[in-house]
Parts: sequence; structure tokens; C-alpha cells
Amino acid sequence: MKTDNSKILFDRAMQVLVEGCSSASRGPLNYKPYPAYMREGKGARIWDVDGNEFIDWQLSFGCLPLGHAHPKIVEIVQEKVAGGTHFATALEVEVETAELMVSMLPHVDKVRFANTGTEACMTGVRMARGITGKRKVLKFEGHYHGWYDGLLVSSNPQYPTTLGHPNDPVRIPDSSGLTPGSWEDTLVCVWNDEDALERMLDAHGHDLACVVMEGVMSNMGVIPPKPGYLKRAQEMCRAHNVLFYLDETVTGFRVAPGGAAELYDLQPDIVTYGKALGQGFPVAAIAGPDHIMESIEYGKVLHYGSHNAPRLGLYAAKTMLEEMTRDDQAGFKKIAEIGEQMTTRLNQVAKDTGQNMRVQNVGSMFHPVFTDLDAITDYREFCATVDLKKYGTFSELMRNQGIFFSGNKILHNLSCTEHTQSDIDASITAAGKALEQMK
Ligand code: PMP
Repeated sequence: MKTDNSKILFDRAMQVLVEGCSSASRGPLNYKPYPAYMREGKGARIWDVDGNEFIDWQLSFGCLPLGHAHPKIVEIVQEKVAGGTHFATALEVEVETAELMVSMLPHVDKVRFANTGTEACMTGVRMARGITGKRKVLKFEGHYHGWYDGLLVSSNPQYPTTLGHPNDPVRIPDSSGLTPGSWEDTLVCVWNDEDALERMLDAHGHDLACVVMEGVMSNMGVIPPKPGYLKRAQEMCRAHNVLFYLDETVTGFRVAPGGAAELYDLQPDIVTYGKALGQGFPVAAIAGPDHIMESIEYGKVLHYGSHNAPRLGLYAAKTMLEEMTRDDQAGFKKIAEIGEQMTTRLNQVAKDTGQNMRVQNVGSMFHPVFTDLDAITDYREFCATVDLKKYGTFSELMRNQGIFFSGNKILHNLSCTEHTQSDIDASITAAGKALEQMK
């Protein structure tokens, strides 16, 4: 594969951009020796500056349920951009998008728009503290809620240190530059384990504002919740008078029209959305029932932001929601079917080639991990058994054949409505070749 132009750009980039790009995930850490610089995308395809074409399964980390440059998105954004990009005033499209969201989310009365999942989660935690008057929050090992200091603990297994006893996990800050004070009120628990959560709630419930979790562990490959676990976790929180906060930044408007809350029959107190919602624009939201959302009225719990409710992003969000829900939620069904097919067939290819690759999925979210276990059910199993280097090799061999699997070894891959049967077939053929080569 010719990469001369990317090489030239990388050399220039290294003079002016840290790691040659704007996030560690996109640079030479995951794409050796340098990343392919992308030029454009259409549907499920992207092209780099050397003209190489890729079938994209990374899809902006889940931000593109309709794929790249969907005609309806291009049309609405082109039409609206001439009328101004951002006003920082109340907007008609803000009302329309919120109405559509609330109609899809039975557990939500009101939404508040933000820009990124990180900001939304930061606000969600602040709301929980403001409402309850309690200090502590509980998060789970391997769950990522963005890069806000207070939640940046025990999310990343690429730098494993001692994890401690599962009943009392060691809290591992994920970054330098965090003061112990920033996370001393953030407790960490093992996930997918009712007894562990019960113990934490018994010990700390009186001081806990909320329990925050992803409905599907999605920053550690794809780890589904055990049957009944989420509902039980919600019940336990209610019994201990602790708010149940579901972070749907990844799962929202993806795993079902109503997200993980719908899929697993939950009524979370606080919910956050991002990624898929903006269809490639930075649109996120904090949402919940009235009695929760009123906490941010008039800045009681402060939520500000010059860029909140970006006009073009909201037109994209509204159009995405209309497209995905059309014809009896056909878009949601389609991405789930593609994810299921990728999962089943990748697992078959792994078996056929005798490789220890396992693919787990929830609908459109899927991820191959190399492990000798039959299934990964939690973070500790992931850290102890998953060969990240092997995934790095596999994803590189895929990209070399024009199939863009994420180079980020702990995230996941995804489907969009624009992947075709021939895209799937080509990806499976490439996976077979990659796994053969790795023998
Ligand atoms: N929550 C979850 C569950 C996420 O996966 C992410 C991003 N990977 C975030 C929050 C943060 O979102 P953003 O990158 O938009 O700040």
C-alpha cells in the first residue's frame, strides 16, 4: 500500500502537532510507524491522502450511524449553513431535536445539550452531587466516561499495575496531572458482579451521590452485562437512595432507539448521550426525568457552554434520528443485523484458521479480542488474558487490505446503515487472510 503522502504529512505534522495529530488514539501509538491521513469519506468508505480506499468499521468511534456524508445530512447542513453556524441563543431546531429525543426515550422528560460525552458526564456527576448533597460517586473498573479528572480512574488496562482485591480495587489514576483530591471521592468497583456492588453500596451508600456505569462495557472491547445485572444494579441503587446514572455516550441511539435503557428495560435517574447523536458533529446531552433535570435550572447546578446546542449539529442530529427511525426503526435494525453478521462470521473465520480470536458484540458494536477464554465478562479477565499486541497486528493486516478496523486496541468496531453485503463479505475474506498470515 502506497503511503508516501501520509509520510510527508506525518513529517510536517510532527513539527507542529503532538504525536502528529490531536489524540493519542489516532497517532503512532496505534498506527505504526505513522497514521494514514484521511481525506474524505462517503457511505461506509474513507479515502486517505494517497488515494487508498478503506471500508470503515471504526466510524469515528461510533459517531456515524448513517456513515459518512449521508445525502440527507449533506443536504440539510448545506441548506442551513448559509443561515449561520452558531448563535448561542435558543433555537427552533433545539426544541425539535429535544422533542424527538424525548419521544424515543420513555425514561426522559427533559434534555440539556452539551458538546462532548466528557462534558455531559462531568455535568451528570455534578448534578448527582448537587441533588443529593452527597460527595462520593462510584464508577467501575474499565468503564470510561471521558477525560474529566473526577472520573479518570481505573479505565485503562494498557498500563496494568496491581488491581487489588476485587472487593477493594486499587484506584488507578489514568493520567498524570491529577491531584489525589480530584478523585478521592470517586470509588471504584468491579462490574458485572452484583455482590461487589451490594458490598460497596452497604459500605458507602450513605455518602454516595450516584453509581455511574456504561450499559455495555464498550471501552474494553465489547463486554455485555450479565443477564439481569443492570436491572438489579438499578434496584440496589434505589434501595440505597443512590442515583442510578447510565452513561449512554456509546450505546445511546445505537443499541436500540432508546439505547441500553430500552434494551435492558431500565429507568435511569441520569443519562448522558453523545457520539451517535451528533452524526459526526459534536452534540451531546444530559437527560433525565423532570425532578432530576430541574437541578440545572438557573445554574443551581452549573451547566454552561458557548458551543452548547450547535445549530448545524442539531440539524444533523434531528435528521439522523428521523432517518434511523423511519420505516419502523429500520436503521436501528439494519446496523444491528450487520453487527451480528460480522460477529458470527468473524468467529467462524477464527475457528477455521485455529486462531484464539473471539468476537463479542451487542448489536452494531463488535470487537475481536485474542484470548484463550471462551468469553470476556469483565475488566480483570480482559487485562489478564487479552493479547493486545495480536489485535494490533490483526487490525494492521486488515487495514493493509483496505478494511479499516480501529487501531485502538481496547475500543470496538461498529456498523452503519451504509455497509453493504459485499462490504461484509470483503471484510470477512480479509480477516481470513490476516489470520492465516498471523499463524
Ligand atoms: N462516555 C463513554 C462511555 C465513552 O465511551 C466516551 C468516549 N469514548 C465518553 C463518555 C467521552 O466522550 P467524548 O469523547 O465525546 O468526550
